[in-house]
Amino acid sequence: MAKVLYNGDIQNEVLKNKKIAVVGYGSQGHAHALNLRDSGFDVVVGQRPGKSQVKAENDGFTVKPVSEAVSESDVVMILLPDELQTKVYKESIEPNLKAGNALVFAHGFNVHFNQIVPPENVDVFLVAPKGPGHLVRRTYEEGAGVPALYGVYQNVTGNAKNLALAYAKGIGAARAGVLETTFQEETETDLFGEQAVLCGGLTSLVKAGFETLTNAGYQPEVAYFECLHEMKLIVDLMYEGGLENMRYSISDTAQWGDFVSGPKVINDETKERMEEILAEIQSGEFAKGWILENQANRPQYNAINRQENEHLIEKVGRELRSLMPFVKQPVNEEEQKQQK
Ligand code: NDP
Ligand code: MG
Ligand code: MG
Repeated sequence: MAKVLYNGDIQNEVLKNKKIAVVGYGSQGHAHALNLRDSGFDVVVGQRPGKSQVKAENDGFTVKPVSEAVSESDVVMILLPDELQTKVYKESIEPNLKAGNALVFAHGFNVHFNQIVPPENVDVFLVAPKGPGHLVRRTYEEGAGVPALYGVYQNVTGNAKNLALAYAKGIGAARAGVLETTFQEETETDLFGEQAVLCGGLTSLVKAGFETLTNAGYQPEVAYFECLHEMKLIVDLMYEGGLENMRYSISDTAQWGDFVSGPKVINDETKERMEEILAEIQSGEFAKGWILENQANRPQYNAINRQENEHLIEKVGRELRSLMPFVKQPVNEEEQKQQK
């Protein structure tokens, strides 16, 4: 079994007298900056002018242009969107790094796929929370945390690992468990997980179930409840106690159906497809496609996104959720309202 570290296993003095620049104040950025500050660390936010800059200032941070925040800090955490990191890194981060600084990432993509090549005189490591930024903040406030992976790419000071662990503890991750990895493992498993299971696999499963029912003439509202709304209730049970706990809670009929029909939906053919997806991630083919899509201004990404948002399951869902005030508003709907 891999060794999982918790608060008691980690000393954080090594980070105490250092200044930390959190570059980017989005999903992860706001959570890291606020949690680190609440854990007693010295944080400056590096942000371009705009919405996030105003948000960081309203949260009480000193906000500086990225270049200034980097040049006055010892530890630089890059929490910009992955596809923008290379440009901002070249222009504002690299020229302001000093020997012995630490360059930190929350995802290994750009370093692993050679989009960012760090200088040889700085520590380079990652601290990657295994959950969205808004949960990194919410769970911290609740006294809990989101688990994280850490990995060292370059250790010039001899302190890289201890800094990574102290950082992970600072954002609350060591309350939930911190696990060692490499840039390669974190990058490849993160991409695979989100593509095959958590995001891609799940949205396609939900839509296929919904379409099967509505095409057979069942009401879209009923199909929405069966295939999307109930998902959370099932996933919560799995989160709390694994598959066994979920199966203990559902009816025996549902459990029998799970045993006989599940393997028909996800079968050896699906697994072969998953292996192909993994191979495309490992070979760099996926990364190349995503980098080029961004260079072309995202024609396909935007077109698919528009089509997906117009899917019947989304229209029905928006109506049903507006009638269920107890369903917590998602972050994006909250933000959309604030902008109005
Ligand atoms: P977001 O898109 O939520 O936030 C990006 C932030 O960067 C925004 O505050 C944005 O500000 C700012 N920004 C964009 N361009 C610039 C620029 N040119 N100069 C300065 N600031 C800029 O990113 P995420 O938090 O989702 O992702 C950050 C990192 O965390 C990525 O490496 C990602 O892989 C990783 N990660 C993300 C997870 C997640 O669930 N979101 C989970 C684990 C890791 P503005 O308002 O000005 O646009
Ligand atoms: Mg990811
Ligand atoms: Mg049912």
